[in-house]
Amino acid sequence: MELKITKSEDTLIFYGLTPDLTKIKSIYNSISEYMEKKQSKDPSDRFNLILFLPDGPNYLDHFTFDTNNILSMLKSVENEISTANIAGGVFVATTFVIEVYKRISEKIFRLLIIVDDGAYPIPTHYLPALEELIKKVKDMPFFIDVIHIGHPEYEARNNLTQLVNLSKGDYHEISDISELNPMLMELSYKKKIIKPAFSKQETPLISKENQPFYINLADEPERVTSIATCSICFQQGDEGIVKCPSCHTDVHEVCWAQWAETSNIGIPHVYRCHNCFNILKLDKNYIMDVQTGRIPTIAELNKMKKKDVTDYLREIETQSKPQVVHAEDPFAADIRAMIDAKRVESKGSKKKKKKKKKKK
Ligand SMILES: [Zn+2]
Ligand SMILES: [Zn+2]
Repeated sequence: MELKITKSEDTLIFYGLTPDLTKIKSIYNSISEYMEKKQSKDPSDRFNLILFLPDGPNYLDHFTFDTNNILSMLKSVENEISTANIAGGVFVATTFVIEVYKRISEKIFRLLIIVDDGAYPIPTHYLPALEELIKKVKDMPFFIDVIHIGHPEYEARNNLTQLVNLSKGDYHEISDISELNPMLMELSYKKKIIKPAFSKQETPLISKENQPFYINLADEPERVTSIATCSICFQQGDEGIVKCPSCHTDVHEVCWAQWAETSNIGIPHVYRCHNCFNILKLDKNYIMDVQTGRIPTIAELNKMKKKDVTDYLREIETQSKPQVVHAEDPFAADIRAMIDAKRVESKGSKKKKKKKKKKK
């Protein structure tokens, strides 16, 4: 049996209904009930709304727990709603979700597109760019669900279905606004995802081709040169301390490297700040050196101070036995050629000195 888990969801509702075709007043109740139903099941679920006004896509600058914020936004612009551009909306919504994901872990993001026959379909030549974006964010995890109200031969359907499938979301077809409410009730249940998205045991969590995207998303900690107290080990110092650019918490670089072992996002050197959940990155090799014991941690350094260094090194050695590493001699071919040349020169009259290969 597959392990299915559910997590707190942030739902971004994309209002793609056209004023000529669908009266906005007819859906207030359905949207309101949908949000209430979701929150009654999980009070940590949040919402946002994106809709098109004459100036383009508009949305709240963050997800909200208070569903009244969504409803009042909807009501305040009810006379200005313009035809939605699905491609632009998906792009803006997805980019917004990426920004939120940067700061918040342990969420499932759902883009719920409610659309009728009037919205501008996704031009086929935009599709590759949107597909690229969605391929990257589906690791977050991120789903697109669509409710289309209208004709089954809807012209935007094919391109939209392609994006929905890519995100492992669902495309729902209803013929009439009266079916919206039951459909939303059905969708108020959480998405089930197969595996815990970001846990240490499951690898690889972020596919190789998507890793550069997440590495790029991560901030680099800033150097701290003054005396500061590390918020992980609580030791004071002025060496090897960095800070989170988002929350400014001071930490030993080495303490974060240890922390990253359990709090990485699926890439060993990309992890979340223990204080604010912002995504950070440290040097890949540095993290590896700390995690494999080649660079001592603060605790180990303290032990080292207390103990005799020899004892400390002995202790390290009992933990991991020295391993023989075979290295290739990069000059081996040159040396062989040289020896061969000499052999030809001095037809075996002298004994040759053989060069020893250095072993590491
Ligand atoms: Zn520390
Ligand atoms: Zn932080």
